[in-house]
Amino acid sequence: MQAARYLVIDFEATCCDKGTVPREHMEIIEIGAVMAEAQTFEVVSEFQTFIRPVRHPRLTPFCISLTSIEQKDVDAAPLFGEAIQQFKQWLYRYDSFVFCSWGDYDLKQLKQDCEFHKIPYPISAPHLNVKRLMAERQGLSKKPGLGDAVRMAKMEFQGSHHRGIDDARNIARLLPYVFGTAKLPR
Ligand code: AMP
Ligand code: MG
Ligand code: MG
Repeated sequence: MQAARYLVIDFEATCCDKGTVPREHMEIIEIGAVMAEAQTFEVVSEFQTFIRPVRHPRLTPFCISLTSIEQKDVDAAPLFGEAIQQFKQWLYRYDSFVFCSWGDYDLKQLKQDCEFHKIPYPISAPHLNVKRLMAERQGLSKKPGLGDAVRMAKMEFQGSHHRGIDDARNIARLLPYVFGTAKLPR
């Protein structure tokens, strides 16, 4: 049976441009998620939370400038375990969906944070890399970054690129090019 909905998730995480936050120490600082109907691609619900990181609690200037997430946003936010509880309460109002993200990064980061915090992986649905699927579906020679994909669809990026909730909303706008009949203009 085909899933009735697409769960689109985009995470932001602690990061740096100088090697001070190694890949295996990155932690999710924002969950952005939207639920879209598979038939119509209409977004029916959204979930957003910031998360307070514990390994590198001070955001780097690079991270703040990349994501536009501020220190006060994460200082006031729940820890990972509490945030995942809230996320699950939202998520399990829906019974049939697949987990979509732009690349495999989000899946790996979620698994890494769950292992670090000793929390069970919270999503019972299969994962789809919609960046790869869009490249295949549209016959692109390279897998496009999210900003490029939005431009290729002749759309304006809505909101702030590298903010989890805005990235998730913009990925959802591309779903007709991934699963539907929409063709990129040439
Ligand atoms: P994105 O969804 O593209 O905004 O990226 C998710 C996360 O990956 C960001 O919150 C950063 O932690 C990390 N990231 C993205 N781009 C870069 C970059 N150019 N340098 C370092 N980390 C990055
Ligand atoms: Mg992303
Ligand atoms: Mg993002």
